[in-house]
Amino acid sequence: MLDKGFAYEVEEGGNKSVYFSVEKFSKYGKLSKKDINELLAGARVDIDERKNSPLDFALWKASKEGEPWWNSPWGKGRPGWHIECSAMALRLLGESIDIHGGGADLIFPHHENEIAQSEAFTNKPFARYWVHNGFITIDKEKMSKSLGNFFTIREVLERYDAEVLRLFMLSSHYRSPIEFSEDQLKEAEASLERYYSTVARMDEFIALNATKELASQKDFDLIKWFNSFVDRFKERFEEAMDDDFNTALALGNTFELIREINRFLDSKPEGQRAATALMKAKEAIGLVKEVFNIFTKTPYQWNVELLKIKKISLTPEDIESKISERNLARKNKDWTLADRIRKELLERGILLEDKREGTTWKVKV
Ligand SMILES: [Zn+2]
Repeated sequence: MLDKGFAYEVEEGGNKSVYFSVEKFSKYGKLSKKDINELLAGARVDIDERKNSPLDFALWKASKEGEPWWNSPWGKGRPGWHIECSAMALRLLGESIDIHGGGADLIFPHHENEIAQSEAFTNKPFARYWVHNGFITIDKEKMSKSLGNFFTIREVLERYDAEVLRLFMLSSHYRSPIEFSEDQLKEAEASLERYYSTVARMDEFIALNATKELASQKDFDLIKWFNSFVDRFKERFEEAMDDDFNTALALGNTFELIREINRFLDSKPEGQRAATALMKAKEAIGLVKEVFNIFTKTPYQWNVELLKIKKISLTPEDIESKISERNLARKNKDWTLADRIRKELLERGILLEDKREGTTWKVKV
């Protein structure tokens, strides 16, 4: 950059610093859409004598007393903050990279400076796409180490399944801030619960109806409508994702599908055709699984995971044996005992559901 005239040296206490000359790079400001003249007008207050222009930034900093340093052609010093990223990207990823990510606060000056120095050096586009994420906020304040209002993912994962955290993150657009709260996590958990309960319902239905031939005319129309809804879902999901990763809309579409599946089941269709329609719906949801890495468990695995996370000291085997005990009590018409077992389990966070095919359990969310 020195050879090409994009940079200049400045003597500082026996060593030299190297600065990038922003005005030499005509595309400066293209990422942050800032105008160089406005920037100059705004920068006049803190004029640094060593620099040709207040916008110039250090590529190499001469070392000051007590600072770490390396030997260099300019004496003792260290790399400027921005150059670290350009140097690593150039060395490890090549002259042009496909996607550069980062927080929205880094657009200016950091990413703008990365572009300036990389493109001045290589004369090639630095990054084909820039993806800037919004902040996680707590009570509308940015979550940060310096504010002390942060906690780690590890801490959150002690209390919630990873899918809950993913669903929470995906429910906002990546460029917007995300307001972090216990309520939001609980809401995400409840959404997942709704999904896994729906899958359990679907699986039961498919098992019962997969070999039943009959379908009435009423069911026939309903199934036809449901099939076309499922087909449209795939298109709508892809459309949302193609629109700058509108994950919130894609999830909205997903939970609309789940609502329709439940309505379909509520209207009690019967037979093989209805089972096939539900299998198609399950397959469509596979797209969500693949793209978002949520919905990856079976309803049973989800509930076993919840036992652990909610610190319920019962194993699935414990619960099954309680259910057998209750079945026996019911067989003997000992309703008091049957009811007591159900209540005791509920107090520990286990819900029993009595169905035609027997009793199932799930963790209360
Ligand atoms: Zn960087």
